[in-house]
Amino acid sequence: MRLLVTGGAGYIGSVVAARLLAEGHEVVVVDDLSTGHADAVPAGAQFHQLPITELDPVLPGWGVDAVMHLAASSLVGESSSNPAKYWRNNVYGTVTLLDSLRTAGVERIVFSSTAATYGQPEEQPIKEDAPTRPNSPYGSTKLAVDLALADYARSYGMAAVSLRFFNVAGALHGADGRSYGERHASETHLIPNALRAAAGSGSALPLFGTDYPTKDGTCVRDYIHVVDLADAHLRAVAAAVPGTHHVVNLGSGSGHTVREVLDAVKYVTGNEVPVVESERRAGDVAVLIASNAKAAELLSWRPTRDLDSMVEDAWRFERATR
Ligand code: UDP
Repeated sequence: MRLLVTGGAGYIGSVVAARLLAEGHEVVVVDDLSTGHADAVPAGAQFHQLPITELDPVLPGWGVDAVMHLAASSLVGESSSNPAKYWRNNVYGTVTLLDSLRTAGVERIVFSSTAATYGQPEEQPIKEDAPTRPNSPYGSTKLAVDLALADYARSYGMAAVSLRFFNVAGALHGADGRSYGERHASETHLIPNALRAAAGSGSALPLFGTDYPTKDGTCVRDYIHVVDLADAHLRAVAAAVPGTHHVVNLGSGSGHTVREVLDAVKYVTGNEVPVVESERRAGDVAVLIASNAKAAELLSWRPTRDLDSMVEDAWRFERATR
């Protein structure tokens, strides 16, 4: 297949693009480089530095069969201080992209949605039919796109899959000799920051909240390896059915507390993570664990890489790039 990967210069998009190429597909990457890096685009991909709102005139000539849509603004905190940016980039941007896809006759789309669409559901693990009550504009805008995809599938016959990512971590050390990992300008995620703190190259890690109703008082999250996530994209594009929109959670089905993640970082690096116990971070919920039964049923997908392997791969990426 020939696939368009939007956001293919970003962390997850570059891993998806690299995996597609490794599987023998042709890849066209579109990224406006607002947060991505041109040198993260895999060598075998055709790269266009463009916003997703400007594809109308060029897309028909690219001859793509399907799109993996990962381009988005994705900082939960920033989305609360600047929701307009999130509605513009994530919702207006995506609807504009969808219309370009219709014009070009591209009917298949896999969209990167998020666990943040659920907010804090009462039941864990979270199933896809759980109530969606996002508690950030980031989550609201991703949910808005999920709803748009359902309408576009129903009315225009699109074949759409929304993949709701839980906590993505790790890196790809590719057969092409290159490594693809997390390189955000202002890193907010736990694992890269804990690795930097353990390496002594960052300040002590703020541990956000130690009084949650969990086994050690810290938040529980469901971590998933970015390579497992990329593999789910390949399965999703094959499983997409015209006229249908599927929503599928991607997680391991079990959770780890922040302190357990810090133990894994200590195990992998050999260093204790210096920590400053801090207030809860606004918007954090105590527990988020995915049910991955639907992913198993619909995509025959199961995660195969555990937390230690995520931390090991992220650590190898940190050392290779610093
Ligand atoms: N976290 C933390 N210190 C940090 C970054 C994150 O204690 O410097 C905690 C955060 O409060 C959450 C968990 O680690 O409970 C995972 O946060 P992350 O930002 O990686 O992902 P999120 O769950 O917010 O998508």
